[in-house]
Amino acid sequence: MPHEAGLVERPEDFIRQRIRADLDSGNLDGPVTTRFPPEPNGFLHIGHAKSIFLNSDLARENNGRFNLRFDDTNPLTETPEFVESMQTDIRWLGVQWDGTVKFASGYFEQLYEWAEELVRRGHAYVDDLSADRIREMRGTLTEPGRNSPFRDRSPEENLRLLREMKDGLHPDGSKVLRARIDMASPNINLRDPVLYRIAHARHHQTGDQWCIYPMYDWAHGQSDSIERVTHSICTLEFADHNPLYQWFLDRLGVYKPIQLEFARLELTHTVLHKRVLRRIMAKGLLDGWDDPRLGTLAGLRRRGVPPVAIRNLCRQVGVARANTMVEIQKFEHCIREELNQTARRRMGVLDPVKLVVTTYPEGETDLLEAVNNPEDSSQGTRMVSFSREVWVERADYMDDPPRRFHRLAVGREVRLRYAWLVICTGVVRDSDGRVVEIHCTHDPASRGGTAPDGRKVRGTIHWVDSRTAVPAEVHLLDHLFADPNAGQASPDEVMDHFNPDSRRIVTGAQVEPGTLEDARADTIQLERIGYFKADSAAPDRPVLLRTVPLRDSWKKIQNKTA
Ligand code: ATP
Ligand code: MG
Repeated sequence: MPHEAGLVERPEDFIRQRIRADLDSGNLDGPVTTRFPPEPNGFLHIGHAKSIFLNSDLARENNGRFNLRFDDTNPLTETPEFVESMQTDIRWLGVQWDGTVKFASGYFEQLYEWAEELVRRGHAYVDDLSADRIREMRGTLTEPGRNSPFRDRSPEENLRLLREMKDGLHPDGSKVLRARIDMASPNINLRDPVLYRIAHARHHQTGDQWCIYPMYDWAHGQSDSIERVTHSICTLEFADHNPLYQWFLDRLGVYKPIQLEFARLELTHTVLHKRVLRRIMAKGLLDGWDDPRLGTLAGLRRRGVPPVAIRNLCRQVGVARANTMVEIQKFEHCIREELNQTARRRMGVLDPVKLVVTTYPEGETDLLEAVNNPEDSSQGTRMVSFSREVWVERADYMDDPPRRFHRLAVGREVRLRYAWLVICTGVVRDSDGRVVEIHCTHDPASRGGTAPDGRKVRGTIHWVDSRTAVPAEVHLLDHLFADPNAGQASPDEVMDHFNPDSRRIVTGAQVEPGTLEDARADTIQLERIGYFKADSAAPDRPVLLRTVPLRDSWKKIQNKTA
């Protein structure tokens, strides 16, 4: 593999070993073909990204094919908007599928023909039991199921009833088509699974053409076979479905892909289940599927997370056969690593207080050269304006600071980044004792921020010229769920773990001119604070969303001494 910019090394995994072995043994009668088969019933999340990268990489590494196939078998929960958003999100990851977008619904005709074939050969029957009865009679892990009284209908009667179902002669829920396998099988998936159910519902792709719809298990393997997928890669929970997958394909005598299961991605503090996300959406507490606190790809994009960081997380986690929970901090680390290399630096002050350089002439301004990215000299420099009054962070001043507080305090010298060395001479307070101005003198020989005599000044603080500063609203985003294991909670309980501090809105921030324009295009770094992206959902307002904070060395020291 050629090295790609910004990507970490990827270790060899069992799926790659298996594919290599299949290629070596000459067992494959076509190019390595993989697919990503989402159901368009929600937005994609970072767990899906793991599957997308894995499947598309496997195809690319082996000069094979990678299909995007919508598993669109349930018109009641699917929409064309989800079909669209999923394609947008996959492209945003930098992944391109081969050929046209595929749909399981594109195979409905073939699937139906195959169903008739199973019926004719006595492998499937029409059952009049209700869904509840079917569930009751399915048995449990320790108890076998019981046969339906309709199980022994003749193939002729079953065929007639199936056609009536297809022709719309029976109401929703009145009948289903089931495979006739084994109600005593230790694998519950083999206890006469349902193939078709009746739903008089309009489908986003096939319109009113069908009123019976295939179940996931019936559509999935046969769609893989039609597309001649060589390696059908899915997450571990489908391992129990593999015998059924094979049973259908064996009965039909058609091409049979190899199903391989790997561990799904789970992240602490994050919900990665569409069905749970759907419930959260319905509660209306969030902005929508692209809420920047969500693990959806649309949410991560809006928050300013670069796709490379997602790819690197997936590479670092790797492809394994045991489920593990990945710490969200690991993801945040990947985001910082990437943005540290790429993000332009800007200065902005979230909680501004005025710093007056009393020795600096009134009415004068200066332009100082600032580095855009110390990690990447090709990003060049810019000129930032300076004048007698600048905004600095309130937290960068203390009345009685401990020794290791290398910032502003009366008598201490600090560096205003790219500008001057200043010594704090005093503060002005309001009637409540709150600091409203910090007064300093500057060393005129320190222009640019270096001491002419080489004296050591440990603290460097950021600032913004009050004459040119632009106001902004800043959203400090944090984990949506306080509990690290919230992702495992049931749909009903998950919002019990909602973190009320997950979005702290700071009004009255002051940023360098041009910051918002830059942050609309790409994620930027506000020096010493964190990474930020302009909110694409607020195109007319100056809103910055915090992608991730920078690690704060002072906080670390504080925590250590605490
Ligand atoms: P969800 O619970 O989010 O709805 P799903 O499996 O029902 O997940 P699908 O649209 O059916 O959603 O998923 C499409 C593909 O993405 C499947 O092959 C599935 O195995 C894979 N996938 C889903 N979630 C994850 C995850 N967290 N990690 C890795 N792969 C995943
Ligand atoms: Mg699914």
